[in-house]
Amino acid sequence: MAELSKFQAFLQCKCPRCRKGDIFTGNAYSFTLQKTNVHCPHCNLKFEREPGFFYVAMFVSYAMNVAEIITIGVASYILGLDLVYDNLWYYVGLILSGVLLLSPINYRYSRVILLHYLTPGLHYVPGSGD
Ligand SMILES: [Zn+2]
Repeated sequence: MAELSKFQAFLQCKCPRCRKGDIFTGNAYSFTLQKTNVHCPHCNLKFEREPGFFYVAMFVSYAMNVAEIITIGVASYILGLDLVYDNLWYYVGLILSGVLLLSPINYRYSRVILLHYLTPGLHYVPGSGD
């Protein structure tokens, strides 16, 4: 199997150290609950680096939600929804729907961003786990 680039490993939610093991079990939009693996199935890296490590992912998720809210609001305006008081609940409905639909993606990628880009000392080690 060809080695993944850092961005490919990020997009495919692979382990930041070996880029082969999956960080999550299940699909983001399946009916089974998605879970974060405790250890990388390939190189045995412990994903939760310290107790409460993934609480920081809340801040990443918050930033992602703000970006999504702004994007959906601006896109609604550009696509023709006038910015008047009568359309307030259309904006609220669209934004809440968008945020709810994207919440599984936010859950995953807030943790993946944290592991791949915001964790000092966690780098790609070619051949780890082989
Ligand atoms: Zn790994």
